[in-house]
Amino acid sequence: MREIIHMQTGQCGNQIGSSFWETVTEEHGISPTGAFEGVNPDLLLERISVYFCEASGGRYVPRSIMVDLEPGTIDSVRSGKLGQLYRPDNFVFGQSGSGNNWAKGHYTEGAEMIEVVMERVRMEAEGCDSLQGFQLTHSLGGGTGSGMGTLLISKLREEFPDRIMTSFSVIPSPKVSDTVVEPYNAMLSMHQLVENTDQTFAIDNEALYDICFRTLKLTEPTYTDLNHLISLTMSGITTSFRFPGQLNADLRKLSVNMVPFPRLHFFITGNSPLSSRTTVNFSAVNVPELTRQMFDPMNMMAACDPRHGRYLTAAMVFRGRMSVREVDDQVLQLQNKNSSYFVEWIPNNVKTAVCDIPPRGLKMSGTFIGNSTSIQEIFKRIDEQFSAMFRRKAFMHWYTGEGMDEMEFTEAQSNMIDLIQEYQQYQEATVEEGDDVEEDEAGEEYNEEEEPADEET
Ligand code: GDP
Repeated sequence: MREIIHMQTGQCGNQIGSSFWETVTEEHGISPTGAFEGVNPDLLLERISVYFCEASGGRYVPRSIMVDLEPGTIDSVRSGKLGQLYRPDNFVFGQSGSGNNWAKGHYTEGAEMIEVVMERVRMEAEGCDSLQGFQLTHSLGGGTGSGMGTLLISKLREEFPDRIMTSFSVIPSPKVSDTVVEPYNAMLSMHQLVENTDQTFAIDNEALYDICFRTLKLTEPTYTDLNHLISLTMSGITTSFRFPGQLNADLRKLSVNMVPFPRLHFFITGNSPLSSRTTVNFSAVNVPELTRQMFDPMNMMAACDPRHGRYLTAAMVFRGRMSVREVDDQVLQLQNKNSSYFVEWIPNNVKTAVCDIPPRGLKMSGTFIGNSTSIQEIFKRIDEQFSAMFRRKAFMHWYTGEGMDEMEFTEAQSNMIDLIQEYQQYQEATVEEGDDVEEDEAGEEYNEEEEPADEET
C-alpha cells in the first residue's frame, strides 16, 4: 500500500491537523481508541493504511507527527478527542517558542530540534511498505509552522528526494491576525515552498474569514469555524487517496495531472455545500447545484478571483451516490460555458473523480482543486504588505538578531516577483499568435456537442 506520512507544525498546523484527523477517523469508522466501528469494512478499510498504521490488537493509529516549539497546542491535541490515539513518541515539542519569528523556526530554535523530528520521520518511513510521500499542515504567518515547517520540508526533500512533498499552507490575513511581521514570515516561507514542495494547497485565512462572515453569517468567526472549512476541504482533497478509485489515486498522480510547470504548483480549493460547524447546509442536493457551487468564486478558499485569471488545470471530486454520467455532463457544460477561463493549450485539463462515500451528515458533496493563474493576486497582496515594511527595514533586527542576512529577504521577494510573472505569462499565453488557431478549433469542437448559445454565457 502506498503510505503517506502526515506532519503538523506550529499552532495552526496542529489545530488544522487535528481537525483533519477527526474528520478522517470518523469517515473511516475509527473510534477515538483506534478500533474499527464502521459498517462497511471492505470499503472503509481497503485503503486505511494510506494514513493509518495498524498497531497490535488491530488498533488503527494515525501516521502523524506533531511538532511545535512550545507545549501549549500540543497539550491541547493530547488532551483532545483523539489524544489517546496518536503514537505518544510522535509528539515532539520544545519550550522556547518562536515568537512569530521565521528565523527562530528556520535557523535557531527550530534547527536545534529538527534532528529529533527527522528521527521520528525515519521510524515511520521504515514501517512503510512503499511510502508515497508527505503532507504537512502549517501556517505561513507565524514562526514555527512557517520557519521550522519549511526547514522540515527541505530536510525531507534532501533525505527523500523521490517522494512527493505536499503542503496545506495557511496564508495570513490581517482580518484574522494582528501580528505585523506575518508578511515577512509568509514571504520567506513562499521562497522555500516554490523550490521544495511538489504541490501546495493555498488556504487563505482572508477568504475563510469572508466565507464565514458573508456566506455563513457568522459575525465573529473563530479559528474553530475557519478550521471546520479547512477540514471539509482536506477531507475532499484526500478522498481519492483514501477510498478505492482510479483518478488522482495518489499524491503523485494528482501532481502529474495538476502541475504543468514545476514552480506553478500552488492550488486554490473550493467546497460545496458550505456549512458552518453548527448548521448543516442542505442547499446542494443535486449534481448541477453541487457543480455550480464548487466552481463559484465566492466559495473559493483563497482570496483571488478565478475570473481574473485562467485555469491551467483543475480537478473536481464528487462524493455520494450519483450518476457518473450526469457528473460528466455537468462538468462538460461548466467547461463549455466558462471556456475562456481555461487555457485552451492544455486539452482535457479538468479531471473528475466520483467516490460513493459522502462526508458525514451529507448525501453528497464536492471539492474543487484549481491551478489558477489568478493566484498571483494573493502573492501580490503578500508582496505589497511585505514591501511596505521592507522598504524601511522595519522589524529587521528581529531576524538579523537570529543571524539572518537581509539578502535572504531580497532574494525571497525577487523569487516571488518571478513567480507572479510566470503566472502572468501563462495567463496571457493564449493571446499570442498561433494559439488563436487552437482556440478556434476548441470552439468548433465544443459547438459540435453543445448548443452554440452556451458559448455566450
Ligand atoms: P506558529 O505556532 O509559530 O507556527 O504560529 P501560528 O501557527 O499561530 O501562526 C500564526 C498565523 O496562523 C496567523 O496568520 C494566524 O491567523 C494563523 N492561525 C493560527 N492558528 C490558526 C488556526 O487554528 N486556524 C487558522 N485557519 N489559522 C490559524
